[in-house]
Amino acid sequence: MTPMKLVILDRDGTINEESDDFIKSADEWKPLPGALEAIARLNHAGWHTVVVSNQSGLGRGLFEVADLNAIHAKMHQMLAAVGGRMDAVFYCPHTPDDACQCRKPGTALFEQIADRYGIDLKNVPVVGDSARDVIAGVAVGCEPHLVLTGKGAVYKARALPGSFPPNTVVHENLSSFVDYLLDREEARA
Ligand SMILES: [Mg+2]
Ligand SMILES: [Zn+2]
Repeated sequence: MTPMKLVILDRDGTINEESDDFIKSADEWKPLPGALEAIARLNHAGWHTVVVSNQSGLGRGLFEVADLNAIHAKMHQMLAAVGGRMDAVFYCPHTPDDACQCRKPGTALFEQIADRYGIDLKNVPVVGDSARDVIAGVAVGCEPHLVLTGKGAVYKARALPGSFPPNTVVHENLSSFVDYLLDREEARA
């Protein structure tokens, strides 16, 4: 049996525009150019996609679970409109003060994914725009990919600090990551 092909994606700054004021409503959720189409290309090539996202705005009382559900409904609808599909969204509702295990760089959400799908996360690509995304992924064996959108945009002008895993692969945006992954898959076939 071939193993399930899975990519784990950060949400804010990776799929949609980042905001220092938090994404609090569906109106405020705006996909980055080409990001949804990139996810659809992955799906068409047989890759499952899931989101892992820190949503401390919940714990801070900035928005409610109903708002988050509306945001994700918009994401699913807009993705479906370009032929893509997000299998699931895993999120941490806590603030840093809660000292939970699920807020990235904590790994509890990744462990939930491994349990839910019955897979080992070794070498599963994880894609995010900040160090904590790739650090969390690497802690459970994932392959780290950084996009230079959202918070990652600062690394266009400077080298990655030593806090990043040394094997982090850097991509201009989510679409460039998908090009890389699909090209590599074709080369190995
Ligand atoms: Mg992010
Ligand atoms: Zn948490």
